[in-house]
Amino acid sequence: MTDGRVEKLNEIAAQVRACTLCDLHKTRKQAVPGAGDGHAEILFIGEGPGEQEDRQGLPFVGRSGVYLEKKLASIGLTRDQVFIANVVKCRPPDNRDPLPLEMATCKSYLDHQIEVLDPLVIVTLGRFSMARYFPTGKITQIHGQPRFEDRRAYIPLFHPAAILRNPPLEPQMQADFNRILEVLEQARARRLASAMPPTSASSPPSQDTPPDQDAPPIQLTLF
Ligand code: URA
Repeated sequence: MTDGRVEKLNEIAAQVRACTLCDLHKTRKQAVPGAGDGHAEILFIGEGPGEQEDRQGLPFVGRSGVYLEKKLASIGLTRDQVFIANVVKCRPPDNRDPLPLEMATCKSYLDHQIEVLDPLVIVTLGRFSMARYFPTGKITQIHGQPRFEDRRAYIPLFHPAAILRNPPLEPQMQADFNRILEVLEQARARRLASAMPPTSASSPPSQDTPPDQDAPPIQLTLF
C-alpha cells in the first residue's frame, strides 16, 4: 500500500533515534521508536524499553516480549501483524518507572505514531499506557473491558511483566487476549457505519432501487 504511512512512521523513528529532549538520551544505548506493520489495525502500547530493548533498539524483545509473542500466537497473530510501541522511547536507568516529565516530553512521538497508524484498536499494557486513556481506572477492575470512542476501541491489559511476576493472573490475561479480535471486529463495524451516509427516515430506499454502482467497494480485511 502506498499511502505514505510507512514512510511517515520511519520519519518519526528517525526523529526518536536522534532525540535529546530529556535526560534518558544520556543513558540509552539505543532509542526504541516502536516496530511492526505500518498498516496494523491493532497497536500495543507498553511502558518503556528494558535492557534487551535498549540493546537491540526494538520493543518487547526481552522476557516480557517472549510472553507477549506467545499471547499473540494464542490468538493467531504474530508481532509483524500488529504495531508495538511504548510510552517512553528510551530506557529509564535500572528499569525504574518513567518520570512524569519524561512521559510528557516523549508524548508527541506516540501521538504522532497513533495519528499516522490510525489503529482500530489500542491495547494498553500496564499502568502507564493505561493512564493515557483510563486515567482513573484500576487495572484489576477494568482489564479486558473495551471502551469504544471516536474512531477506535481501547482495551486495558495487564503488563506482561506483571503476569511473569504473578503467574496466577495468567488465565485472566489469556481471557483478555481472547477478546481482542472480537473487539477488533466491532471497531471495524463501527468505523464502517460511521463512514456511511445517514439514511433518510422520510424516504426509505425502495426495494426496487438497484445498488449504487458508483459507490466505492467496501474493503474487507483478512482478520
Ligand atoms: N516492557 C515495556 O513496557 N516495553 C518494552 O518494550 C519492553 C518491556
